[in-house]
Amino acid sequence: MTAVADVEWATERDALARWLARDVEPHVRELEHADRYPVEMVEQMRAFGLFGATIPQEFGGLGYPASVYAEIVEMISEVWMSLTGVLNSHLMMAHLTARFGTPEQQKAFLPAMAAGDLRGGLALTEPDCGTDLQAIRTVARREGDVYRVTGTKTWITNGGRGNCLAVLVKTDTNASPRHAGMSMLLMRKDDGYATSGPLGKLGYKGVDTVEVVFDDVVVPVDRLLGGTEGLGFQQAQGGLELGRINVAARGVGVANAAFRAALTYSTQRHTMGKPIGEHQAIQLKLADMACRVASSRALTRDAAAAFDAGRRCDLEAGMAKLVATEAALENATEALRVHGAYGYSTENHVERYYRDAPLLCIGEGTNEIQRIVIARQLLARERQ
Ligand SMILES: Cc1cc2nc3c(=O)[nH]c(=O)nc-3n(C[C@H](O)[C@H](O)[C@H](O)COP(=O)(O)OP(=O)(O)OC[C@H]3O[C@@H](n4cnc5c(N)ncnc54)[C@H](O)[C@@H]3O)c2cc1C
Repeated sequence: MTAVADVEWATERDALARWLARDVEPHVRELEHADRYPVEMVEQMRAFGLFGATIPQEFGGLGYPASVYAEIVEMISEVWMSLTGVLNSHLMMAHLTARFGTPEQQKAFLPAMAAGDLRGGLALTEPDCGTDLQAIRTVARREGDVYRVTGTKTWITNGGRGNCLAVLVKTDTNASPRHAGMSMLLMRKDDGYATSGPLGKLGYKGVDTVEVVFDDVVVPVDRLLGGTEGLGFQQAQGGLELGRINVAARGVGVANAAFRAALTYSTQRHTMGKPIGEHQAIQLKLADMACRVASSRALTRDAAAAFDAGRRCDLEAGMAKLVATEAALENATEALRVHGAYGYSTENHVERYYRDAPLLCIGEGTNEIQRIVIARQLLARERQ
């Protein structure tokens, strides 16, 4: 990043921090418990330009590198993780468009995505498959200048409130290997797909997650991402590095929020005539929590720096995602314990961290798969 961009981000960081403290934090509990979409906050994020955070400046975005993006995601997640959901899958869709789209697709979609006029996310998962994406059944059959799309996607974040999706489809159901028959289509809600939901969730409330049904939806062939069939699986995989850095950054934010809450409470709550922070049992928890935050943040920054330097970073991003999301889950649990009954109370933010954190271990590749990805990378590097 240039020095000018550094200065710009320093100013923006202060504005973002002020907004989070003044206009978000006081309202999170009420909105979250009501599972209400945060319309005004989303509009404010749009005013900050965050829908174009990582979109290149030539297309009207802010052009922030992954390292700045990770910092933004961490800051917002520390206050309310759901708000990052409104941005993240949208920016993944934009990232795929910028990286793999034809020049015409970039021109047609990216400025509107950067402005937040086109908003949405990625539609990969189906009722019968999430990890095994090559098993998808949504089909796009070519007829002359159009594709006719039929199938169902589920767990699609921003599918209801948004108006645009990058949809993984099969353009050849007989291809071998299976991924050679997969493609990605840029689809707009006014093409005619239907959504139902929102789906009920343990946490990650406020942001909409829906089912999307394509019932013979017709889209022009120029919506095929990159203009060549058979590349959809690689394109989806190509977005994973940035996707994992962003989930890792969410993990750092939640882990740090849980740690800060526990630290503060340890100085306030007294038992046996002293603050609980003076009991060794609590001190051990605080030390472990702080170490988890620091190690997660370091791994996330390393992965973002590798990404920004243009290096392949699936190992680094996978490690950051695994460590930071497990840190979020462990810190949320420990913060709840440190707070005793007050951690279990809906009057407190801590119970939300406890409900939000598990999602991080599922999205962008489950942590089981993450371990396999990491091990395969290690073995491949060892063999080189
Ligand atoms: C709140 C929420 C929002 C989401 N948003 C989106 C979205 O916007 N877009 C989208 O496309 N998807 C979205 N998802 C879906 C998410 O990406 C999937 O849930 C995830 O990929 C896991 O798929 P699955 O749930 O089908 O689990 P499965 O693939 O059925 O896995 C079940 C279990 O088996 C394990 N497993 C599976 N295969 C293997 C293997 N080969 N080796 C070892 N273990 C294995 C998994 O780790 C897991 O523990 C969202 C999910 C949630 C909960």
